[in-house]
Amino acid sequence: MRVVVEAPAGRTIREHAASAYPQECCGALVGRASGESRVVAAAWPVENASEVDRTHRYAIAPSSYLEVERRANAQGLTLLGFYHSHPDAPARPSERDLLQALPRVDYIIVSVVRATPSDITCWRLRDDRVAFAPEEIEWRPES
Ligand SMILES: [Zn+2]
Repeated sequence: MRVVVEAPAGRTIREHAASAYPQECCGALVGRASGESRVVAAAWPVENASEVDRTHRYAIAPSSYLEVERRANAQGLTLLGFYHSHPDAPARPSERDLLQALPRVDYIIVSVVRATPSDITCWRLRDDRVAFAPEEIEWRPES
């Protein structure tokens, strides 16, 4: 499967990942979905609400979740998923990411090496929920 990411969303993800370093950043992916196709139009930074070890963990508070959902609906957009960073670690889901994952949600992970954004990957929970399946990202250029 494939997820289209528009340029402004990609920029926000990279900038947020760099500015949050060495902590993990997190945020929402919003855009449009029809059938299996998803277009991420914007990425909205959300506070990392993890109370412990924010260099290796992130959490999105229920209030932040409701806020981005409300904001998306108000703009006629759909909450498609979430992004977060892996400071000095590969852009591959961790065991914790798997435990936190919800079905039918896109998860973008950006690796940040010494404060510089590196690989960016996208994942979806498999139907059997025991692992993630990789999603191809199509980067839409600046229009
Ligand atoms: Zn992670």
